[in-house]
Amino acid sequence: MNIMLKTMLVIVGVVLGGHAVLLAQQPAKKSGQPVWMKEASAGLEKELVARYGEGIRTRLQRGVRQVADFWRAGDGDRKVFEEFVRSNFAGDQETLDTMFGRFEALLEKLDGHMGEIGRTFRTQADLDLGPILPFDEIVAGYDASAHLSDDFFENKLAFVVVLNFPFTTLEDRLANGSTWTRRQWAEARLAQRFSRRVPASVNLEIARSASESGQYIAEYNIWMHHLLNEKGERPFPPKLRLLSHWNLRDELKADYSEGAAGFEKQKTIQTVMQRIVLQTIPEVVINNPHVDWNLPANTVIPSSVMDADSKVPAGMSVSSAREPDTRYKTLLGTFLASRKADPYSPTAPTHIARSFNEGREIPETRVREMLEQVVSSPLVPRVAALIEKRLGRPLEPFDIWYNGFRQRSTYTEAQLDDIVAKRYPTPEAFQKEIPNILTQLSFTKERADFIANHIMVDPARGSGHAMGSSMREAPARLRTRVGKTGMNYKGYNIAIHELGHNVEQVISLHEVDHTLLQGVPNTAFTEALAFVFQENDLRLLGLTTPDARSEELQVLNDFWGTYEIAGVALVDMSVWHWMYDHPNATPAQLREATLGIVKEIWNTYYAPVFKPKDVVLLGIYSHMIDSFLYLPDYPIGHLIAHQINEQIHKAGSIGPEFERMAKLGRVTPDVWMKNATGSPVGSEALLHATEKALAQAEAESGKR
Ligand SMILES: [Zn+2]
Repeated sequence: MNIMLKTMLVIVGVVLGGHAVLLAQQPAKKSGQPVWMKEASAGLEKELVARYGEGIRTRLQRGVRQVADFWRAGDGDRKVFEEFVRSNFAGDQETLDTMFGRFEALLEKLDGHMGEIGRTFRTQADLDLGPILPFDEIVAGYDASAHLSDDFFENKLAFVVVLNFPFTTLEDRLANGSTWTRRQWAEARLAQRFSRRVPASVNLEIARSASESGQYIAEYNIWMHHLLNEKGERPFPPKLRLLSHWNLRDELKADYSEGAAGFEKQKTIQTVMQRIVLQTIPEVVINNPHVDWNLPANTVIPSSVMDADSKVPAGMSVSSAREPDTRYKTLLGTFLASRKADPYSPTAPTHIARSFNEGREIPETRVREMLEQVVSSPLVPRVAALIEKRLGRPLEPFDIWYNGFRQRSTYTEAQLDDIVAKRYPTPEAFQKEIPNILTQLSFTKERADFIANHIMVDPARGSGHAMGSSMREAPARLRTRVGKTGMNYKGYNIAIHELGHNVEQVISLHEVDHTLLQGVPNTAFTEALAFVFQENDLRLLGLTTPDARSEELQVLNDFWGTYEIAGVALVDMSVWHWMYDHPNATPAQLREATLGIVKEIWNTYYAPVFKPKDVVLLGIYSHMIDSFLYLPDYPIGHLIAHQINEQIHKAGSIGPEFERMAKLGRVTPDVWMKNATGSPVGSEALLHATEKALAQAEAESGKR
């Protein structure tokens, strides 16, 4: 849940940028095919079968057809086409093996170096290195790999792959993938890279909108000491600057341990969140420590206190005018850019289809089904009743973020901050500790050192993110926010999560049998593996030891978290469908539509439990604005995390089992999960475990 923005940007960049072609299924339409193509193809079949024997006929037919589907007049005349096929078709297994091996090695270097360029160009934007100048934003938006696909079709390297390796559809992979060899999987992934021809200009535009929306979100801080209640008091301490929505939500969670004062803070944060979603937030309060925001009146005055290093900007005008729908304008920008790729994606002609069929490789209908199983589960009111009992008051809407099922809330945020700051005063201190963290998680000393040697810690500008490498020479990066007084607990919790990403990234690159299969099936798996680490954050501080009771609480916590984020994901999915149905919408129209969707989902699945209707909190997630339909990965991630956790418990220790799973590589989700745990992806494991934990908790609760 603490997954950071930049992790996602990287993933979006991978999906939409250099590897755009990775994810397509089938060649483009045949309408542009030259008239001589059919005859030329038949002639080549005859000639090459005569040369190499009958055994190659099927493979040759397929390859020539795949090339023909992409060949445009500009690629050459009949003679060029014939000569190309004649000299580049691998007529025997040995040549095919050599070709496969060389492509695998070359593409690792290509992706790795492109990743290094991208990371370097984002340095100023991503790291805590002083102000971002206007040109830095252009630098950060640059995507060196944007033209790769064009280049590879132009110099015909893409055609070499297309001629010799098979395209597969999601259907093929779902139906037959479980019987494929690893080499077949690697070949399928190799061919997929070149199974779409999107113009570089479109990829660039998408990258630019990702960068712009990311910037909008990354600067959306609320200076909490400047929030005034109806008595003119400041409920929050000086210097507290919270990034929406992550830090706002996490502060709200932390406030559960602070009694009545915490409750007031939670109500305050809830109001701030609602104003952001509704866009009634005064524009001038965003990222501005020089004004005071009277929350009940929703008015702004120049601040009477100073708790920031920056000076009051000369000529700062203070007005209570609302943010003019910039939130929805930004979202609309990502949609309009994504949509430009549609005509070049015949088998997945919308961003929604690309996101589910090609990105996740789980059909949207199946995802929706799994999410609805959770939000409409009869377990929801039972868990809600338990929470009410524990809180000793009726539920408030913000209790969708209730975290009292965790042992953690027995400590105050301040106590935790103190412990963490002492242990991690600098990013270097965290770097040094990584081998110990890993051995505590039962990685062997040797593996822990190897992995730690391939992770570099940097100071993050935002709340933290992980950035993997695609080539074995370059390390993965862990970006973490460390303040002047050391790391705080929130930062630490995120850092442990990001470390989970890094460990997966290192193992799945260095230990996988084919680098073409590096990684995991989709981002939900990345998150699931990161959760395995994150859940151990307190244990790694020596604060709790897991017992049956805390595991039961953990399950209830997971379930409640999944219930919350499943609703958020359903909102994201419906909003994208609405944008596709209304491509000419204005930001104001999108705002109204989003509010309608948010309220409907709330009223259907949440109001029966929470009572108040028309609550808009499910619209607060920043990902909805800048992450291109990423949110469904979170609830799927919870389901997957639960399956993986169960497996790790069965195995008895984290390290070796984490390693075994992380090197399965990028096959389809169900194939991966079957290999890892014995069952395909689904909600059943979480629901069963919740049922069991709930029965125990209810029995205990009745005794008291
Ligand atoms: Zn994450």
